Order: sequence, then C-alpha cells, then structure tokens
Amino acid sequence: MRSREFLAERWTPRTVKDYFDSQHNNRISRKDFQITQPFDGCVMFRFRTIPDLTRAFFRMAEYHEGSRYRGTRPRAVTMSDFLDRFVDRQGQVDYFRFWDGFNITDRSFRAWLKSAGDLAQGEQIIVDEIKRRTGAAPFCIVGVAGDDPATQDHEIMHAMYHLKPDYRRAVDDLMDQFRTRSEYRTMKRVLKDRLQYGDHFDEEIAAYLTAGTQLGMVFGVNPRDWGRKFKALLHDHRPT
Ligand SMILES: [Zn+2]
Repeated sequence: MRSREFLAERWTPRTVKDYFDSQHNNRISRKDFQITQPFDGCVMFRFRTIPDLTRAFFRMAEYHEGSRYRGTRPRAVTMSDFLDRFVDRQGQVDYFRFWDGFNITDRSFRAWLKSAGDLAQGEQIIVDEIKRRTGAAPFCIVGVAGDDPATQDHEIMHAMYHLKPDYRRAVDDLMDQFRTRSEYRTMKRVLKDRLQYGDHFDEEIAAYLTAGTQLGMVFGVNPRDWGRKFKALLHDHRPT
C-alpha cells in the first residue's frame, strides 16, 4: 500500500536534498582528512566524519579485526556477509554511523590489500599514502573521526602494543594484576557476549581502560584507579 503518508515519510525536503547532494558529492578527497605521525611507525588518519572514515577503513578493519577477534582465518567481507551481518532489520548500517576508531597492523594491511580487488576511492587514498610513508620497518595505521582524545588513546594504545615490545610487556604485567578483579570478568563477558569478540580480550580491555571514558556506558563498571594506571603506562612509554 502506498499511502500519501508512507511516501511523505521518505520524501522530505531533507532526504531529497541529501539524495541529490550525495549523487554529486560522494567522493572522499584529501581535504576530508589530516595525516599525522603520533610516533615512529604509526600513521594516523583523522577524518572529519565517521561515514567517510568508515568507508575508507571498513573492509580493511573487518579483514583484520573481524577474523582476529572471532579467532578465525582472515578473510574479506563478502557482499552476503555485509547484507547478513552489517545491515540491520531497519535497513541501517550502524557501523557506518557509529564506529569512530580503527587500527590496522602492517601485516594485516598487506594481506588485506592482496585480496581486496578493486579499491573504493577512500581505500585507494589510504593505500597511496601508506605506500608513500612507510617502508620495510614495522608500522601501524590508525584511523579516527573527530578529535575525541579518548578515541585516539584507545587506538594509539593498540598501535603501541603492536610496535613497542617494552610497552606491551608493561601492559601485560599490569593486566596480570587486573585479571584478578571482578571488573575484569565483567568486561570480558561484555566483550564476548555483547560485542562479539572471540579473542584478544586482554588487549581490548587494556585499550578501553587506557581510554577510560566508556567504561560505565559500555561495561557498567568504573575501575577508575586502573584506568589511571593504564593511561599512565601509555604516557610513560609514548615517545615525544
Ligand atoms: Zn580496540
């Protein structure tokens, strides 16, 4: 049934404007993001908006995180995966409105690139910049949208954990202590049951503790002293 109300809901002045705008202006360009190097080996892309960030990083991140955290072999997201797992029953793709930070290791970047096929425009820009800025030495790519310091700390934590063995050891030692706490068990359960992680729980818990801002909202815990300790480790080990 096509009632007038039914159509009116879709064709509002706003949706019509967005539709025409996006037909003419759907391309990501170099002015939609900035590139910085927070420390040696870490290349950070800071996008203005979450959808542009996600369009550039989605396939790369899912190749890496999706398989890594599910404990399965890395594999590209297929169109059927996309429709079944990422589009919800309202037709929305929350991932593209919501996820504001990514980190990709050198190994995962190279493996993804081999299997990626045709690159989307945002992906091509990232690939070109990475090839220009990195060589044989280990590197890590971080992508963020906006300027939330907690998002940055979360992703830089992952990058440093990957690139700096001293920092990784210090995090692991502190995690040995935190693992005895009830908050640890709660956080692990939320990662597993609600955020669909299958592996690498400790690194992720350490990243959330380091960022410190979403503990109450996402996990319903507030281990403030531990957040401070993990954050201090990041600042102590972060090269200036
Ligand atoms: Zn993380």
